[in-house]
Amino acid sequence: VVASMAHLQEEKMRLQEELLGLREKLAAREDEELSRSLQLQSQVEALKAKLLEQGQEISRLHSQLAGTDAEKHRALLAAENERLRQEMKSCEGELLELRRQQQQAPCQGCAHLQENAELQERLCQLQQEAEEARAKLAELELEVQQKTNRLAEVELRLKDSLAERAEEEERLSRRLRDSQETIASLRAQPQQIKYIIKTVEVESAKAKQALCESQSRNQYLQEQVGMQRQVLKEMEQQLQSSQKTVAQLRAQMVMYEAELERAHGQMLEEMQAMEEEKNQAIEEAFSRAQVEMKAVHENLAGVRTNLLTLQPALRTLTHDYNSLKRQVRDFPLLLQEALRSARAEIRQAIEEVESTNRELLRKYRRELQLRKKCHNELVRLKGNIRVFGRVRPITKEDGEGPEAASAVTFDADDDAVLHLLHKGKQVSFELDKVFPPQASQEEVFQEVQALVTSCIDGYNVCIFAYGQTGAGKTYTMEGTAANPGINQRALQLLFSEVRGKEADWDYAISVSAAEIYNESLRDLLGKEPQEKLEIKLCPDGSGQLYVPGLTEFRVQSVEDINKVFEFGHVNRATECTNLNEHSSRSHALLIVTVRGLDRSTGLRTTGKLNLVDLAGSERVGRSGAEGSRLREAQHINKSLSALGDVIYALRSRQGHVPFRNSKLTYLLQDSLSGDSKTLMMVQVSPAEKNSSETLCSLKFAERVRSVELGPGSRKAELASWPSQEQLEGDSAGTSVASSRGQAAPSPGQLSSRSASIRRKLQTSG
Ligand code: ADP
Ligand code: MG
Repeated sequence: VVASMAHLQEEKMRLQEELLGLREKLAAREDEELSRSLQLQSQVEALKAKLLEQGQEISRLHSQLAGTDAEKHRALLAAENERLRQEMKSCEGELLELRRQQQQAPCQGCAHLQENAELQERLCQLQQEAEEARAKLAELELEVQQKTNRLAEVELRLKDSLAERAEEEERLSRRLRDSQETIASLRAQPQQIKYIIKTVEVESAKAKQALCESQSRNQYLQEQVGMQRQVLKEMEQQLQSSQKTVAQLRAQMVMYEAELERAHGQMLEEMQAMEEEKNQAIEEAFSRAQVEMKAVHENLAGVRTNLLTLQPALRTLTHDYNSLKRQVRDFPLLLQEALRSARAEIRQAIEEVESTNRELLRKYRRELQLRKKCHNELVRLKGNIRVFGRVRPITKEDGEGPEAASAVTFDADDDAVLHLLHKGKQVSFELDKVFPPQASQEEVFQEVQALVTSCIDGYNVCIFAYGQTGAGKTYTMEGTAANPGINQRALQLLFSEVRGKEADWDYAISVSAAEIYNESLRDLLGKEPQEKLEIKLCPDGSGQLYVPGLTEFRVQSVEDINKVFEFGHVNRATECTNLNEHSSRSHALLIVTVRGLDRSTGLRTTGKLNLVDLAGSERVGRSGAEGSRLREAQHINKSLSALGDVIYALRSRQGHVPFRNSKLTYLLQDSLSGDSKTLMMVQVSPAEKNSSETLCSLKFAERVRSVELGPGSRKAELASWPSQEQLEGDSAGTSVASSRGQAAPSPGQLSSRSASIRRKLQTSG
């Protein structure tokens, strides 16, 4: 605070000094201005005196003009003019000097700068006016010169004529004298005199005429002099007007001086005001500084007391610091010891962890096997064969009107139930799951997903699409490019699952595509698709079946799958005239084989996924069909019945499963038996006009599903699957199942039918 006070004092001193300097400068500038105005005044005075002199000179000239020598005046005027010009020049020089001074030291930010500029401007104007007056003066001088010249001429002429006149007078007086003498001499002789007188009279008349002439000339000259006087008068008037201008200029000058005075007064006032403001500010700052100083003093006192209290704390801190220093000195040793023990502990812990790890791995493997067993058990309990129903939406092809109305309804609370309105009666069916028309491909696939992934664990899986033509089998299996079905989604899922297990497993996925038409098997990916393939027993004696010549493609990406599908389609299409009809009368199979190797255990697995788009299940009117169409229908009937028989036999755990009854079941034998899994997707159309076919399909579905497993089912060991014809008979007859489960044969019924079935089996060999 003391320092700031000192600083403020210094600042104040400096400001005062500056003020003094400014005042001095101002005084100097005032003096300068005063002297300059005095100079200008004196110049004006001098000019005035000169004007007066000139006026006098002019009046003198005026008075002397009548008959004096104008040359002298002219010389006088010229000299005067020259003097005036020199004075003007010196005045201009002074003015220039003054301007230069002003430029060198312009008063910065002075309010008079503008006034000064105005004055200068005014001065310029005055100079201009003076210049104009000078020019006028020069003009007048020129005129005077001309006039004097003329005057001199006139005078000269006057002198000449006067001389002539004197001469003439002399001559005449001489003649007069002669004549008087002659007259006197002639007086004596009177006649002679008379004559002489006459002569004289004649001569004197001449002289009189000459006199008259000279008198008139004299008159003319006098007139000329009068004219000159008039000119002089005009010049006088001009002079008077210029005097007036000078008087005006003087008045302006006086006005400017007054303004200068006023401005000076204002400046002084402003300076006074500034001085006062400054003093006030200094006083305020001083008082503020005093207040602050007081506060600082108080703070200082507080800090002093704090310092006093801090001293003991500092003592304890130094003590602590010393002890810490000691500890730091000892720290490395302690650290090394701690590190040693920690390392030993860590090593021990690692060893322990390693052993537990080994133990855990062992347990994990055992658990894995256990899990597989449990899974198998669970699947067995749930049944390895599952039946889903899918109802397609009403399409444009169904037409319009009551025929196209939906005959199928659903249960909002139970997604396993659906109701069909057939011939005015409502029939209900229970399946494992029912997909309504609005179910997406994605939703359908979600239900199938688990089945597909079990293929990776080495299980064989079959997925069948069953139903009449146009019920959506191909849509569900293949789908469209924008909305693919189970086939493509399954392969994609397999790829991603396999990628997830890459760390421990090596997997290879390969695909085959085949078609069964009229009980003959064809390779859709082969070079010669029309060639019929045979199903044979493996020669290694394992009892496994294989198809020699069936093409297998290794696939690794979605692009590969698409290529394979496209290739299969092309092969199928080139082999028939109407693909749609052909595909509805043949079974299309996509066989995916997943082979895996566990790198850590060397365990090998092989899983097969069979995706089958079955031929249309519709009944062909026996009366209408002939020839090849009838043969096709018979083959289809046979193979679908055989599939039903096999599934029935499997679910009821019969000792004998009639795989050999059709090419399809024979080919899929090892994918249907053992702990394989099967899904039957029963496709139906909701349209009213398809209701009897829908009824048949749903009955087929329910029958597949309702075969009970477990100890009780042993009784049904020999029961057989109803043939397609039987299904037909059921749907045509009146004994339509009106409640769930009724379609399944009761144990009693089964035992009564078993005899005939056994017979059938025996005859079929
Ligand atoms: P199928 O193979 O049983 O003869 P399609 O799969 O060819 O029957 O289906 C017949 C028609 O119905 C096709 O035009 C198909 O696109 C359409 N379709 C079938 N199911 C569905 C569905 N769930 N959603 C939309 N359209 C469907
Ligand atoms: Mg189809």
